[in-house]
Amino acid sequence: MKTEIVEKKFMTLLPPNPGVCQECAVAHEPEMPHNAQSLYYQTKFNMAHGRGATWKDAMEHCSKEMKADWIKALKEKGVDLKAGKVNPEKVNP
Ligand SMILES: [Zn+2]
Repeated sequence: MKTEIVEKKFMTLLPPNPGVCQECAVAHEPEMPHNAQSLYYQTKFNMAHGRGATWKDAMEHCSKEMKADWIKALKEKGVDLKAGKVNPEKVNP
């Protein structure tokens, strides 16, 4: 009899504390984007979608105006949104 051993890798995340956003584990108003820099958000998103989250994903539920404000602010901070970056580019001195 042939025995097949299947190794399965499971990963679980403990839920965030009550009182913070349950998607990104950061305290923010529901109309605001999730914090794309949150390790919790990145991990949860990656487990669901098999890739890292971008700011576009993080603001998917936001209004057009909210998205526009955040895109402007992130660009001003030097975040390359088109490249799917979540952090500002490091500026060399
Ligand atoms: Zn959130």
